[in-house]
Amino acid sequence: MIIQNYSLKKHNTLGLDANARFFTTPHDENQLRKVLSENRFRNIPLLVLGSGSNILFSNDFDGLVVRLEINDISVTGDDDKSVYVRAGAGINWDNLVSFCTDRGWGGAENLSWIPGTVGASPVQNIGAYGSEVKDIIYSVEYLERESLNKVTLKGSECKFGYRDSIFKRELKSTAIITYVTFRLKKFPDLNTGYADISAYFNQRSCKSINDIREAVIAIRKDKLPDPSVTGNAGSFFKNPVVKIEKAEELKNLYPSLKIYPAGEGMCKLPAAWLIDQCGFKGKRFGNVGVHEKQPLVLLAYKGAVAAELLELSSLIIREVRGKFGIEISPEVNIF
Ligand code: FAD
Ligand code: NAP
Repeated sequence: MIIQNYSLKKHNTLGLDANARFFTTPHDENQLRKVLSENRFRNIPLLVLGSGSNILFSNDFDGLVVRLEINDISVTGDDDKSVYVRAGAGINWDNLVSFCTDRGWGGAENLSWIPGTVGASPVQNIGAYGSEVKDIIYSVEYLERESLNKVTLKGSECKFGYRDSIFKRELKSTAIITYVTFRLKKFPDLNTGYADISAYFNQRSCKSINDIREAVIAIRKDKLPDPSVTGNAGSFFKNPVVKIEKAEELKNLYPSLKIYPAGEGMCKLPAAWLIDQCGFKGKRFGNVGVHEKQPLVLLAYKGAVAAELLELSSLIIREVRGKFGIEISPEVNIF
């Protein structure tokens, strides 16, 4: 079914009001193919929408919005060490994580409680608490918009990087991800190295991936705003990756700055710290603001509009540039 002039307000976690010219929710690849082959949709903009937890609608979307409801999940194989789970793009990400942790299959537990869908998980190579989804992605299946051909890429072909993949670059707007196959570990190792996780386990023992899942959920619930209460899209900005010389120059000026290795000659700087140093933490500007516990997260209070968020984002980018000579850029996808 195709709906015209459909409100996307309920379909983005910032809660912004925007209309889609056409909106549809295919339940399988055949329905998706059928819609995409209609003449009226062949040459208009296409947006594949998951849960809208990483999207800012700056305007109405004058095209076709496809929200996949492909929700089947199956175990497709196993060997001595691994289990392979193939999951539909429409499945809620955290349901996939609990499907795995409930069975003792490891690799996804540090990524617990990230909002969104399975289909979006490879797009920005979701990451948290020292894990990235690329480490458990075996393959990604997608339909190619023009030809409607089905393509399967191995994880190693997806050009995964820090919050980055081929789906944000060469295949942006052309690949519609329908299934992702994950390779989970039958004998998981426990990744508790990240500071907040190891602090959590100072007072308790960590025996299983379920303990890690519990820790991650508790930490996230305490630190991050719940989008059903206050609109937000998680981290609004990416952590900047800069040359090691620049990071060291800043570290000399600001000894409390933490720097993390990010490949040869490069370092990752915490954007939250840079924004905090510019005095934004906890500040409110009209209907928008900066989260008091994590300044990477911008908040959209009741009545907020996209222009206010974009204005605040530009102000933050300018202030960080002025104070540190560092460019930060949005992680959120702006349409
Ligand atoms: P959407 O926001 O709907 O879409 C995101 C992008 O992916 C868009 O460009 C869209 O076109 C594309 N896309 C979606 N589905 C498909 C598909 N099937 N095929 C092709 N393209 C597609 N992210 C992290 O990495 N780590 C975190 O810890 C994290 N924490 C968060 C916490 C909060 C409170 C919030 C609100 C967000 C957080 N995020 C985090 C961001 C977000 O949850 C992820 O980016 C998530 O993967 C987005 O999923 P989605 O289904 O909502 O995608
Ligand atoms: P945090 O622990 O306060 O850390 C701040 C920043 O420092 C993080 O962005 C993190 O980078 C980096 N960092 C900390 N320890 C690190 C280590 N051992 N090695 C490399 N980098 C390290 O972060 P937080 O805000 O509470 O978030 C916790 C985790 O959830 C982070 O991994 C974060 O990315 C993820 N998260 C993401 C979103 C989103 O929307 N993208 C929203 C909320 C939380 P990384 O971000 O690269 O890990």
